Amino acid sequence: MPSAIVVGAGVFGSSVAHRLAGAGWEVTLVDAERPGHDRATSSDESRLMRTAHGPDAWHTRSARRARDLWKEIEAETHISLYVEAGVAWFVGPDGGWEADSERVLREQGVPTERLEPGAAVERLFPALGAADLDHVLLEPEAGALRARRATQTLAEAAFARGARFVGGRAAPDGARVRIADRALEADHVIWACGPWLAGLFPELVELRVTKQDVLYFGAPKSWRTPDVPGWVDYSGAFYGTGDLDGRGVKASSDAVGPDFDPDTGDRALHWSAEQHVRAYLRRRFPPLADAPLVAHRCCQYELTADTRFIAAPHPEHPTVWLLGGGSGHGFKHGPALAELMERWLTRTAPPEPMFALTGRTFDHSLRTAGGSPRAVAPEAT
Ligand SMILES: Cc1cc2nc3c(=O)[nH]c(=O)nc-3n(C[C@H](O)[C@H](O)[C@H](O)COP(=O)(O)OP(=O)(O)OC[C@H]3O[C@@H](n4cnc5c(N)ncnc54)[C@H](O)[C@@H]3O)c2cc1C
Repeated sequence: MPSAIVVGAGVFGSSVAHRLAGAGWEVTLVDAERPGHDRATSSDESRLMRTAHGPDAWHTRSARRARDLWKEIEAETHISLYVEAGVAWFVGPDGGWEADSERVLREQGVPTERLEPGAAVERLFPALGAADLDHVLLEPEAGALRARRATQTLAEAAFARGARFVGGRAAPDGARVRIADRALEADHVIWACGPWLAGLFPELVELRVTKQDVLYFGAPKSWRTPDVPGWVDYSGAFYGTGDLDGRGVKASSDAVGPDFDPDTGDRALHWSAEQHVRAYLRRRFPPLADAPLVAHRCCQYELTADTRFIAAPHPEHPTVWLLGGGSGHGFKHGPALAELMERWLTRTAPPEPMFALTGRTFDHSLRTAGGSPRAVAPEAT
């Protein structure tokens, strides 16, 4: 049976380890910390599982496939990871991206509903400021993943399938993996190191790593998810969920934050970042504008120029693969990317050109309009 070393036990690496171990591979999963540790990008309470990706059918299909795979992982582990609460898109009069999404979702057979703002208040939210909205596009079969729990569950499921864990900070050494004075070897090595990937391969990987604040607010019972769906304001570059698992209502700006070092960066919440989110809540969910802040998580985006992932062989060591560039929307795709990674490694499918190491042009439309000058995080100005 082939062997693989997967470096990085975030959602990407743990998904690959789980997949390959399930196919009978001899798998070693390496991480500098524990799977799901606080500074990893995968380790927030939740991540949205949406299928809409504007005109991009590839990512729609991938997200839909991932939804099936997440359900399989739940069935395998008996752990609840996915809350199918729906995702509501707030659509203004110029909602071309959402119109493209709706068309692609219908073409792909993914259920959607178009709701008048009044109906969205009746059915989805206890309160909704909708003066700027033309309609709400609901994806009833989307929702939220319990992110940290899902990452740890995937790693543990990989171990249950026979993968072994090696702790330590790894460095590339040709086609090998060096941890202090040990050199590990395998038929394949997959470096899935999230925001650390560019530092390990500075000549090959270009990532912009930015500070992103996620805020949680205390709210009455009527704001609980799954009764309240996840939501995205694409053109306003905000997103969130209701109160999932008693952690508070989540509300975040998707605008690109300041550059950030995941090891040494200051993780404190800046006053202006909180006010930026509260100003949005005042407009969109007025009863929450002055709700108590119950938690804050500082996460980091690892952005490629075009927000498409990196999944490509090393140009000098073809058995070594680089996987990352989650770009603020990668979490949900983890198991679907792992399924593809198995095909790429076994050469039953060619590498996907859009995930190559080179040839990117700036385009952030897969995420939200947060990459545009219209939406800039306060600390970044
Ligand atoms: C604020 C925010 C909101 C987001 N919202 C969504 C969303 O709603 N939906 C969605 O699908 N996605 C979302 N994402 C994106 C998603 O979270 C990421 O794409 C995904 O978690 C990236 O996972 P990863 O495995 O690549 O990286 P990570 O989770 O960072 O894992 C990398 C791992 O590699 C390890 N590592 C690094 N270097 C080394 C080394 N040298 N040796 C050993 N180990 C090493 C680290 O310790 C870490 O555990 C969001 C991201 C952020 C920041």
